Amino acid sequence: MAEVLLETRSLKKYFPVRRGLFGSSRAFVHAIDGVGFSVMKGETFGLVGESGCGKSTLARIVLRLIEPDEGEILFENRDLRILKGHKLREQRAQMRMVFQKPFDSLNPRQTVMDIIADPFRVHGIRPEAGLEREVLRLMDLVGLSKDYVHRYPHEFSGGQRQRIGIARAIAMNPKLIVCDEPVSALDVSIQAQILNLLKDIQAEFQLTYIFISHNLSVVKFMSDRIAVMYLGQIIEMARADKLYSSASHPYTQALLSAMPNIEIAAKPERIILQGEVPSPVDPPRGCRFHPRCRYAMGICSKEPPVVSYLSSEHSVACHLARSEGAKP
Ligand code: SF4
Repeated sequence: MAEVLLETRSLKKYFPVRRGLFGSSRAFVHAIDGVGFSVMKGETFGLVGESGCGKSTLARIVLRLIEPDEGEILFENRDLRILKGHKLREQRAQMRMVFQKPFDSLNPRQTVMDIIADPFRVHGIRPEAGLEREVLRLMDLVGLSKDYVHRYPHEFSGGQRQRIGIARAIAMNPKLIVCDEPVSALDVSIQAQILNLLKDIQAEFQLTYIFISHNLSVVKFMSDRIAVMYLGQIIEMARADKLYSSASHPYTQALLSAMPNIEIAAKPERIILQGEVPSPVDPPRGCRFHPRCRYAMGICSKEPPVVSYLSSEHSVACHLARSEGAKP
C-alpha cells in the first residue's frame, strides 16, 4: 500500500478585488474553494484544467508561497501551516518547484554555477563533495555540459534553461517537486526531451511530482493519477487510464473530446462547450459548471454537487453521478 506524502484538506483561497466605478465595493476572486487531495510517495499526480481554474494557485499554496485562508496541508503527516522560520525553511528544502517560464525564473545576472548552487547557499549547506563538484554533477544529471557552468541564462536555449531549472529543483534531494506547466513555453520538438528527463530523474531519485498542465496529452503521458479542476474546485479525480477511458464529469468528457489523437477505442463525438468560463469573482450557484453543461438539471443551479465515489480511485462531483446510484 502506497504511503501518502502530501495531503490537503478543504483548502480555500479568496483574493480580494475592488470593483465599481470608484473601487467602492469589495469582492473576492474565489481562486481555490474547498480543495482536498492526497499525493502518494513516488507517484505523479496530475492537475489539469483550463487557464485560470486555480491549478497554479493551488501549487503555490501547497509550497506555502501563498497562504491559504482555510484548510490543512499535511506533508508526511506534519501540518505545514503551523511551521515558521527555521522549520519552514527546512521543510521547503523538501518541496521544490519547476516553473513554466525558465527564463523568467532564472536570475539573468547569475551564472549557471550560482543558480544551481543557490539552494545550498540559502539553506547554509555545504555538499560533501564541495559546491562546484556538486553543481557539475547536477548539470551532468540533467544533460548540460560542464563547460557551460560559468555562462548566463541568456546564452541558452529554452530547453537548456529548463534543464538548469530542473537541476536547481533537485539540488537539495527534495521529496516533492511541483512542475507548473514545465513544457508549455518550449518548442514542441523539445517538450518530449524535457518530459523524458523528468521521468528519468523521478525514477532515479524516487521523486514524487505534482504535475500541472492545461495539455491533456502531456498530463496523460506523465501522470499516475489526475485531478481535473474547474473554477477553483476539483470536479473529477481518477487513475490516469480510468480518467481517459471512462470520464464521468461532463466537463472532463468535453475536454477529452477535444484531445487530438485520443488513444481510446471509440473516439467520442466532439463536445463544444458553450459560453466562456464564468468569472471566479462571481461563480455560478450550485454546480459551477451548470451554465455550460449540456446535462444540467433543475437541481444543478441550486445545490452544489457533493463528491461521489464511482470506485475507490475514481471520484466525481456531479448530481448526475449521484442520481445514477454511484457508491458514496
Ligand atoms: Fe452538469 Fe449538473 Fe453534473 Fe454540474 S452537476 S456537471 S450541471 S449534470
